[in-house]
Amino acid sequence: MNVLVLNCGSSSVKFQIVDTDLERIEADSDSCLASGIVERIGGQALTTFQATGHPRDRHAEPLRDQRAAIDVILRWVISHASRIDHISSLADIHAVGHRVVHGGEEFQKSVLIDDEVLHGIADCIDLAPLHNPANIKGIKATTELLGSGIPQVAVFDTSFHSTMPESSYLYGIPYQLYRRHKIRRYGFHGTSHRYLSYRYRQITDQPLDDINIITLHLGNGCSACAIVNGKSYTTSMGFTPLQGLVMGTRSGDIDPSLIEFLMIKEGLSISEVDTMLNKQSGLLGISGLTGDMRELLEEEAENGDRRARLAIDIFSRRVKQYIGAYLAEMENGTESIVFSGGIGVNSPAIRSRICGSLTSCGIKLDEAKNQVVDEVMKISTDDSRIAVYVIPTNEELLIARDTYRVVANVPRRW
Ligand code: ADP
Repeated sequence: MNVLVLNCGSSSVKFQIVDTDLERIEADSDSCLASGIVERIGGQALTTFQATGHPRDRHAEPLRDQRAAIDVILRWVISHASRIDHISSLADIHAVGHRVVHGGEEFQKSVLIDDEVLHGIADCIDLAPLHNPANIKGIKATTELLGSGIPQVAVFDTSFHSTMPESSYLYGIPYQLYRRHKIRRYGFHGTSHRYLSYRYRQITDQPLDDINIITLHLGNGCSACAIVNGKSYTTSMGFTPLQGLVMGTRSGDIDPSLIEFLMIKEGLSISEVDTMLNKQSGLLGISGLTGDMRELLEEEAENGDRRARLAIDIFSRRVKQYIGAYLAEMENGTESIVFSGGIGVNSPAIRSRICGSLTSCGIKLDEAKNQVVDEVMKISTDDSRIAVYVIPTNEELLIARDTYRVVANVPRRW
């Protein structure tokens, strides 16, 4: 089955076409036929598309919205069909899988999209006002462009975390607020954490129910997840993706009293404070330079920039704090820590900074193995009580597989 995977954001649309079916899933031989991204939607958009095994096509043109972006993607697929294996026309796209950010408490697994599901996703707009509207636009545009006959599946960022116990997901605020407004920790990056637990199970050849690990998705957005008996037990992002680790431009955990204080002292509106915490904080805010970790590491190494170093130190320290908290919370301990996301898989320096002072917790890195970049690898020493792994994530693959399973009605085993 050729699945078009769409990840529609407010200003970008990413896609992959993945060839998958039960046999391919069992053999782990699903293949990505084409991929790409449309960025800066709403202005002069940039498109970068690639048929697997062929050079990238880059192009700029004004695009108004997600519908226009998906239209450009589909036109490119048609005009490049001769280069894309198994695709000769749009009829060769058999199903579409959408990344949907917020599924609230209602959606605990991936579902076939119909009117009722679309309403359910719209009901979660309050919880994800930036993300769910873009996801809905993507779904509606797909129906318009590919016809209502094409099966579309929603795969939620939140659903992997639906197994968290109440004691993990409730905040220390009046309980009736949970009842009234569903205020609770939801957690995000669920598809990534689920993929990492699946890949880890495969690498270590264990039944999923036996797995107790801490997964770290460190990209532009960052989150940690304690996985107990193969299920999400707790995670660092909360009611929104703002909570938890220090991120590229997001603050992560702060004292909530800061919000009122900032409004008074800086004369800001509530939405300006929200923008500051989401877009001007984190690595960018601390360093005053950039929210891009690679650039900060270069700045620190080449110019010894003090605030670049400070940003990296605060980032690494927060990750350590979460690892420490999860080690204390996981009753049967953790067997491994898994690094993923752009920073987690590409930066030996950050992994070293995070794990360096965790030797007292039984974590010892093998610095030679830690030099690995973007590949699956165990990077701890043989006598490390807790193992450390690098595993590149692949959310698109999981979305494609879920889409196949939902459409073909094949039960999911992980
Ligand atoms: P997203 O969360 O948007 O998918 P990624 O997972 O690609 O983003 O992660 C982006 C982050 O990874 C950026 O901070 C980038 O600087 C960082 N990164 C990429 N390569 C390296 C590298 N070699 N060293 C350090 N950081 C890196």
